[in-house]
Amino acid sequence: MEPVAQRRESCRGVILFGPPGSGKGTQAKLLVETWPVPHISTGEMLRDAIESGDSIGREVSAIVRGGGLVPDALVNLLVERRLAQPDCAAGFVLDGYPRTLEQAKVTMDLFRQRGIREVVIYLAVDYNVIIARLTGRRQCASCGALYHVAFQPPRRDGVCDFDGEALYQRDDDTEAVIRQRLVAYEEKTLPILRYFQESGRRWVEVASSTESPLWVNERIRQAVEAA
Ligand SMILES: [Zn+2]
Repeated sequence: MEPVAQRRESCRGVILFGPPGSGKGTQAKLLVETWPVPHISTGEMLRDAIESGDSIGREVSAIVRGGGLVPDALVNLLVERRLAQPDCAAGFVLDGYPRTLEQAKVTMDLFRQRGIREVVIYLAVDYNVIIARLTGRRQCASCGALYHVAFQPPRRDGVCDFDGEALYQRDDDTEAVIRQRLVAYEEKTLPILRYFQESGRRWVEVASSTESPLWVNERIRQAVEAA
């Protein structure tokens, strides 16, 4: 794959959207392999903040330890701080952010202030495909190896290739839980997509149901290149 051309004059901010199981994390990792910019995931950012031990980090830590959700305003502040780091000068890939309409609006204000060109990518995946992908996952309880009953089956059904231990299905990979997550996604995330579309943002939909991750990544790369 050709690397994404570096341009000095503009910073490109990639926002990856898609339902749970659409491969956002995979696509973000593939993209930064050929385009050396930071891959910023909210989870990692929160962990980094806690590790830093500064005043925001201590606040985040107290909320997370209490089992609470980190409020929008605090997450927004962390994102703003992260995007101001020198390694984000040419661009960055956001994974799992913005998650709410309010966050999306704050993000777009920030992009406008800093002259960041947004590239909104929507990974469109059929829900039945997501359910098949996620419900087929199996893991070895002993060594953690991952399998898929259809796409990456073990040599012997239900048994790990490496140590012969039994494979299990994670509780959150059951169909009922996945459907719940899809409903939550529609309630929270679809309004953000509508907001991006209606406000005339650069927006690219990539059909990702049956295509290989590398094919999908090539489409994303082209969209970043064109922004
Ligand atoms: Zn194993």
